[in-house]
This record gives sequence, structure tokens and C-alpha cells, in this order.
Amino acid sequence: MFSDGSTQILLVAVCILIIALVIVLRRGRERVSPPQPQDLSQSPESFAVSSLFEATMGSMREGLLVVNKDMRVIASNPAAHKLFNPSMSKLNSQRLTELTRNPAIYSAFLDALKGVERSGVKVQTHGPERQVFDLRVVPIGGGNGNGAAGALGVFFDITRMERLEMVRQEFLSNVSHELRTPLTAILAFVETLENGALEDPESSKRFLSIIRRNASRMHGLIDDILELTAIEGGNVRLRAGFVDLHQLVNDVCASFAAKAPAHGVSLVNKVPAEVTVYADARRLEQMLTNLIDNGIKFSKEGGTVAISYEPGGRDSGERDRILVEDNGDGIPAQHLERLFERFYRVDRARSRDMGGTGLGLAIVKHLALLHGGEVTVNSELGKGTIFTIHLPKH
Ligand code: ADP
Repeated sequence: MFSDGSTQILLVAVCILIIALVIVLRRGRERVSPPQPQDLSQSPESFAVSSLFEATMGSMREGLLVVNKDMRVIASNPAAHKLFNPSMSKLNSQRLTELTRNPAIYSAFLDALKGVERSGVKVQTHGPERQVFDLRVVPIGGGNGNGAAGALGVFFDITRMERLEMVRQEFLSNVSHELRTPLTAILAFVETLENGALEDPESSKRFLSIIRRNASRMHGLIDDILELTAIEGGNVRLRAGFVDLHQLVNDVCASFAAKAPAHGVSLVNKVPAEVTVYADARRLEQMLTNLIDNGIKFSKEGGTVAISYEPGGRDSGERDRILVEDNGDGIPAQHLERLFERFYRVDRARSRDMGGTGLGLAIVKHLALLHGGEVTVNSELGKGTIFTIHLPKH
């Protein structure tokens, strides 16, 4: 759940804290404060322990809070302070109810005072920066049938894990939704054929072609998901070298020899013949294929998709730029920021009609990042769009 390093720090801190607290609680004292270094009566050993104690408590990301039998805080660390009330000068001697009104926290500490250990208590903060914690509270001291003498609570920050879980769930729900649409169409047309349409050769042909289109959409989607997962998971190794860009663009354009004319779109390779860029040829081809495909799909009849190159200054450390420019629909400004997110589409229905998966730009983004570069977009509604791949110079 947490990294080894933080677990070790936590274990050390908790051990030291528990030993100190048990001693203090047994002596019936109200407060725990580690011995001060300037305390001249301290032995070198206890000075070392107190220094370790303070350093460990101060460096922990987990919030630590100890209450006595009266539910008053008798020890806390800076992380707990930050979590509860950064404006309060100190938490110690405050009542727990003064720190938080959260009933889950209160009841977990109360249970621990009764001798019952509580874990997995989920606690959320509601400030501008929402945080989620996993709280574990253990009883300390006592044991003579009167419950515990105190309770120690540890707040583990699980905000990042929660966020990742949310992204994962969103991704899964998007994938299921995207797969269900073509699957539903396939099942519906198979049923129609079974119910008699098979007898009519005209309808059969039409329905079969719809089935094939939907099946190949599912195929494309699965390919894109696998591809994206591999790239994001760090399982794609680049084989970078100097690539003849003019030739590469020619090859990609040739692969659209049927599709571009079918949409009434012309492709123009404006990259000069001698240009080379440093990249993985196959991955660069993949990026250009996605961008040119979009250019064709979102262009009007008679439109043009042009691919050009702008060299970065060798001394200025500027990157080389490859531009894919169309004079098509353009993209409304409010969509540009999220355009490279997985499954983000300006017009979902239109993208689907054109066989899109909504993953193309996310793949381009990750491949560009893998090259140490990036991809950016400029667009004007009704005028067209320019996607730029920025590649580091070598
Ligand atoms: P899709 O499979 O839908 O093309 P992409 O990730 O490649 O998925 O693109 C996401 C969305 O970005 C598209 O659905 C479209 O709304 C928009 N888009 C991408 N390229 C262009 C373009 N050249 N012109 C206009 N819109 C574009």
C-alpha cells in the first residue's frame, strides 16, 4: 500500500512513540513531549533517541495523533498538524472534537480506547485540495480491564491511489461503453438476418457489411487499447535513428491512396527532400498516420492536408517540428485543452461514424513524450487545424 521506505520510517516512529507513550501513560502523566536536546540531565542515549524520535516524526508523510482517555491530544506530528488545523499553533491538549467533527475519526478513536483496534477507516478532507486518508487506530497502555490508557491513530495519505483508481474505473467504463455500441449493432443485425433477412440477397449484403464495419471497429479499439497500455506501461522501447522524413511522409501518404480521394482530400508533402529527424521510424510513422487520418476525416470535400517541417536551431536547443495542417472544420477552443485525453472527442457520434476510437491523439501524445518531445495543437473553428510534433535535436 505504501512504499517500503515510508513503511520503515513509520514502523520506527510508531515503535519509539509507543514505548514513550506507554511509559508516560503508565506514570499517569497528561502530556508526552520528547526530551529537549538542551536538557542537560539527559543521557547521550536518551538524547539520541529523542533526536531520532523528532526527526522521524517530522519527516513522516503519515499524520500521527495520540489521545489520552479523555480524548485529548497528547502527541502529534507536523503531518497531523497540517491535516487538522494548520492555523492552530499546536494540537496537543486540544480535544479531538475541537480538531474535527468527522464522526468516523471520533468513533475509531473511541473504539480504540475501549480496546478495539480499527483500520481501513476512510477519511476525506474537503478543502480546495481534497485529500483522502486511510486511518488506523490502535489502543495503547491499559490492559487491566479498564480499556486502553490512550489511542494512537495513523493517517495514511491515499489521495494519489484513489485518483489512480478513479482514472482506472473511468477508463474501464469508457472501454466497456465503446465496445458495447458496436457489439449491440452486430447482435441486432445477426438477429435480423436470422429472422428472415438472409433470404433477401440485397439486405443480406448490406447487413453483413454493417456487421463487418462494427467488428472492425471493435478490432481497432482493442488494438488501440493494447497499444496505449503498452506505451503507458513503459513496455515500448524506441529504436531511434536518423529518419529520412521526406520519404517517410511519402510512405504514409501512399497508405491513404484510397481513403484521401474517397473523402475528396489531397495530401501534400512539403518536407524538403534532404531532411532527416532523429526518431523511431515506425513510431513516427504511427504518429503521422494518426494525424493525417484525422486531417482527412475532419476535412471538407476539396480540402488539403499538408505535412511540413521546421528545423529547430541547433544552438538554441529548439526542437525540430513536424506540422500536419488541414483546412477542415477546426476545433472549438474550449476542447483544445482536453483533446489529447483518452476517449476525448469533440463530437462523439461523428467520430464513431467515421470509425474513430477516440484514442488516436492519446497515442500520439504518449509516443511524442517517449521521444522526449511533445505534440501541440492550434486550431481555428471553420479554418482548420495544425498539429505539431516537436522532436529533440540530435
Ligand atoms: P478519433 O478516433 O475520434 O479520431 P482522436 O483521439 O484521434 O480520436 O481525436 C479525438 C478528437 O479530436 C476527434 O474525435 C475530433 O473531435 C478531434 N480532432 C482530431 N483531429 C482533428 C482535426 N484534424 N480536425 C478537427 N478535429 C479533430
